[in-house]
Amino acid sequence: MTSPSNAETAASSAFAPVNGRNDPAAPAESFGSESGLHFDNRFAALGSAFFTRLQPTPLIDPYWVGCSDATARLVGLDAGWFASDAALGVLTGNALLPGMAPLASVYSGHQFGVWAGQLGDGRAILLGETAAKPETSRFELQLKGAGRTPYSRMGDGRAVLRSSIREFLCSEAMHGLGIPTTRALSVAGSDARVRREEIETAAVVARVAPSFIRFGHFEHFAANKQDGELRTLADFVIDNFYPACRTTDRFGGNAYAAFLEAVSERTASLMAQWQAVGFCHGVMNTDNMSILGLTIDYGPFQFLDGYDPQHICNHSDTSGRYAFNQQPNVAYWNLFCLAQALLPLIGDQEVAVAALESYKAQFPLAFEARMRAKLGLEGLSEPAESDRALIEGALKLLAAEKVDWTIFWRRLSHCVGDSNPEPVRDLFIDRAGFDAWLLLFSERHNGVSRDAANRLMLATNPKFVLRNHLGQQAIELAQGAPAAGLETVKDFTGVARLLTLLETPFEEHPGFDPYAGFPPDWASSIEISCSS
Ligand code: AMP
Ligand code: MG
Repeated sequence: MTSPSNAETAASSAFAPVNGRNDPAAPAESFGSESGLHFDNRFAALGSAFFTRLQPTPLIDPYWVGCSDATARLVGLDAGWFASDAALGVLTGNALLPGMAPLASVYSGHQFGVWAGQLGDGRAILLGETAAKPETSRFELQLKGAGRTPYSRMGDGRAVLRSSIREFLCSEAMHGLGIPTTRALSVAGSDARVRREEIETAAVVARVAPSFIRFGHFEHFAANKQDGELRTLADFVIDNFYPACRTTDRFGGNAYAAFLEAVSERTASLMAQWQAVGFCHGVMNTDNMSILGLTIDYGPFQFLDGYDPQHICNHSDTSGRYAFNQQPNVAYWNLFCLAQALLPLIGDQEVAVAALESYKAQFPLAFEARMRAKLGLEGLSEPAESDRALIEGALKLLAAEKVDWTIFWRRLSHCVGDSNPEPVRDLFIDRAGFDAWLLLFSERHNGVSRDAANRLMLATNPKFVLRNHLGQQAIELAQGAPAAGLETVKDFTGVARLLTLLETPFEEHPGFDPYAGFPPDWASSIEISCSS
């Protein structure tokens, strides 16, 4: 399908009406009172150049695969709403709530370093924005996998169950780790068939965020020389999410430069957190970069098992552009694209470059602070010259033997508490190398409260992360196995169990140690690509 660049008028009858309604803007089923939520949509007020109004395509006979009570509470949903037919209907695209005005937004982007032109929400539909009372914070509600849009290009507008479970769990896992992210309200499945490399089944993730605007939204209007729309978009984001840029005295009061600087700083902080926890995103295209510095669009992501700085988690990334250790540089490259897009507003190339430079200053500082927290030092001891060597020494040791990233840091945390280095020492073949490093580490801790360091490390180095094999096991249970050659029995308890562990990944969760163990041998043969 050719994608109209711009036009509400493009909403065509090709899009299935919800519950038989043909008018995309028509009022919906009246489920509002049950949800306790009221919807409006500030993004929709930007104007028709930014989106196409359309209805989600209903998902046939949906069923819950997973729900997040925490995200429901966050957006102000009444407890127990998930139990209603209305919730299942609304969160799968089968019904709307009053005030919802569904739309798919248009954006462009650089994919794998190459300008890809217009992309857009090819399978995500923004239902609206919650206006919870009291109006403390607002959240946009988006359905991913809710059917074709004018931006679907060759795609079918759907998402498969496996990738939807991964997005659902990882959104909540990242939040549990304290890392900025879009959140997931639910994942619902259906027996509707979807063709990928094989035939799979469809699912819809309901996700929420203050905004789903990406770098690519800005690139879109800049590339099309739509300076008016570019300004409208920047003003919208600044006024709603970066209001301090309006009153800044940075860059001679240039709000757009201050905005670029603030986005660069948030992105630097995000990258530091990804690197410290061992998170590999896999597809850092500019259309997958949140303007709010959130982790967004979970695809072929992976939490590192063994520490391999060059690890490539995306099977489609043949050149390793998005390898783990490339992420901080790629983020800068992506910010550079954003800077170019904002240039007509900033008005001065040197100012834009200066704003962008904050990334280069902020990333190392943020990364060092995260690593000092992992080492039990941040906030407990003034930064020292030797800290960098301690960090680099650990990284070198871990890389040399591809030692398990998460297990190393968790065992080191316990070692600070119980003075028993054996469990962490056992992770290394090069015992002498580890002992030499541990001596430096112990000396560095002289004068630091052992209890405080132990507490800090246990609250910084998680016990549980969403390793690929854990996700895979939950997915296979959910996909179901034929029972006695008859019906397929689907089991969603694996998703629920992982959600519980990942929501509070720093807690011990006695009885669940296998979820914190080494990956099985077969984990390294899991191949996750862009196809989802
Ligand atoms: P991603 O790599 O998932 O961020 O997707 C890149 C672009 O392809 C975005 O514009 C998506 O909306 C679109 N896309 C990905 N998968 C599909 C699909 N199955 N149907 C329609 N559009 C898709
Ligand atoms: Mg994307």
